[in-house]
Amino acid sequence: MEKTISVYGAGLAGCEAAWQAAERGVKVRLYEMKPQKYTPAHHKQGFAELVCSNSLRSDSVTNAVGLLKEELRMLGSLIMQAADATRVPAGSALAVDRDKFSEYITEKIRSHKNITVIPCEVTELEGDQVTVIATGPLTSDAFAEYISRELVGEGLHFFDAAAPIVDAESINMEIAFFASRYDKGDADYINCPMTEEQYNAFWQELVSANEAELKEFDKQSQKELKVFEGCMPVEVMARRGRETLLFGPLKPVGLIDKRTGKASHAVVQLRREDKEGSMYNLVGFQTHLTFPEQRRVFRMIPGLENAEFLRYGVMHRNTYINSPGKLDGAYGLIAQKGVFFAGQMTGVEGYIESAGSGFVAGLNAAMLVLEQESIIFPRTTMLGAMAHYVSHGGNGAFVPMNANFGIIEPLPERVKGGKVAKYQKLSERAIEEIRNIKEKLL
Ligand SMILES: Cc1cc2nc3c(=O)[nH]c(=O)nc-3n(C[C@H](O)[C@H](O)[C@H](O)COP(=O)(O)OP(=O)(O)OC[C@H]3O[C@@H](n4cnc5c(N)ncnc54)[C@H](O)[C@@H]3O)c2cc1C
Repeated sequence: MEKTISVYGAGLAGCEAAWQAAERGVKVRLYEMKPQKYTPAHHKQGFAELVCSNSLRSDSVTNAVGLLKEELRMLGSLIMQAADATRVPAGSALAVDRDKFSEYITEKIRSHKNITVIPCEVTELEGDQVTVIATGPLTSDAFAEYISRELVGEGLHFFDAAAPIVDAESINMEIAFFASRYDKGDADYINCPMTEEQYNAFWQELVSANEAELKEFDKQSQKELKVFEGCMPVEVMARRGRETLLFGPLKPVGLIDKRTGKASHAVVQLRREDKEGSMYNLVGFQTHLTFPEQRRVFRMIPGLENAEFLRYGVMHRNTYINSPGKLDGAYGLIAQKGVFFAGQMTGVEGYIESAGSGFVAGLNAAMLVLEQESIIFPRTTMLGAMAHYVSHGGNGAFVPMNANFGIIEPLPERVKGGKVAKYQKLSERAIEEIRNIKEKLL
C-alpha cells in the first residue's frame, strides 16, 4: 500500500516537513491556499515566503539560532540548503535574497517526484490520513476555528502578548535580590530596586522610546481581543502618568531588600520562566517597543545593566497552541495519533525555529507511516530543546519562544571563560549528538 501523508501550508515549516517525508520515500500531498487566498502578511505566489525581514539571524554556532542552523544543515534541511544557496552578504548573519530563496524552495518542492501540490484552503482534516498542520501564525479563520473546536479546544491562542525574558546569569545579583511580596511563600522572584532618581530617568526614556510599527491586522486583532484592557503594554501604562507604574508592575510595597532593610521607590519583579531558573521574565512588561529600544531602556533597570535578552517582548497576531501537555516531543498531538503540528503554531518563534519544528514533525510523520519508531531529539540539541520546551513548557504561562541557550539542557559542570566558552561547549555537545543521530536516520 502506498505510504502517504498530508501537509497543510507551504511555509517554512510545511515545506521542510514535506521535503523530509518525501526524501524518505513517503508520498506527500502538500496543500497551500496561495494563490487563491492570501493571509494579511503574504503577498507572493512562491512557497516559504519570508513575510518580514530577509535575515535568518546569526550564523555562528556560539549563538543559539546559529547552532540550530548548523544542526539542520547537518541533517539535510531543505530550508538551509536554500538559504546557503541564496545568501547575500550580511556580516555574521545569514541573510538571503528573499525571492531567490522562495523560488529555490518552490522549484525543489514542485519537482519532487513524491510531492503533489494541491492549491486550496484547508478547512478541516482529511479523513484519517497522517497529517502535518503547518498553516502558520496567520492560519485562515475557518481552519483556525476548526483546529480550536475539533483538535485543541481552548488551547488555541490568537494573539501573543509577552514580556521579555532574560538570561538569569546576566542579572547583577549584587543589586537585585530574591524576595516575594510581604515574604509570602518562597522568595521566588528576583527584584530590581530603583531609587526615585533612577525611576524618573527610566520613566522618561520609557514614555518616549520608539515603538514597533503596528500592522493593520495587528491593530484589528487587538481591538477584537481587547488586549489593551487585560494586558496593556508597559509604555502605554507609563504614559498615563509618572506615578501610574508605581501602582502597577513597579509597585514597591512589601519588597524589602534584607541586605539593607530598606524599601525602594520602585521595584521591577522578574519571575522564573523554567524549572532550572536559568530564564526570568519581567513581570508586567509586555511591550510594543522595538527590540533595540527594549534593550536600551530595560537595561536602565538597576541589576539589568548587562541583561542578555533571550526573547524580546512582543504583541502581535499569532495563532498558536498552548502546546505543553497537548503535543509530544515529536510535535504529535497526544489526543489524536497521526496529527502533527509544525511551525509558529506550535509555539516556536522565528523562521528557522519554524523550519526546525517542520523538520522534526515531517520526519516523525514519515516514521509513523513507515511503521518505524518516532525520533525524539535529546534536549542537549537545539532541535530537541525546542521540542522539549513546546511539549513541556516553562514554569509560568506558555509563551512562544525563539531558540536560545536557556532552554537547552545545562552542562553538568560550570565552564570557565565566560558566556562564549559556555556556548561553545553547549554547541560542541549538540553537534556531536546530531552526528550520532544522523548515522541512525533513514
Ligand atoms: C507579520 C509577521 C512578521 C514576521 N517577521 C519575522 C521575522 O522578521 N523574522 C522571523 O524570524 N520571524 C518572523 N515572523 C514569525 C515567523 O517566523 C514566520 O511567520 C514564519 O514564516 C512562520 O513559519 P510557518 O511555516 O509556521 O508559517 P508560514 O511561513 O506563515 O506558512 C504558513 C503557510 O500556510 C498557508 N495557509 C494558511 N492557512 C491555510 C489554510 N487554511 N489552508 C492552506 N494553506 C494555509 C499560508 O498561505 C502560508 O503559506 C513573522 C511573523 C509575522 C506574522
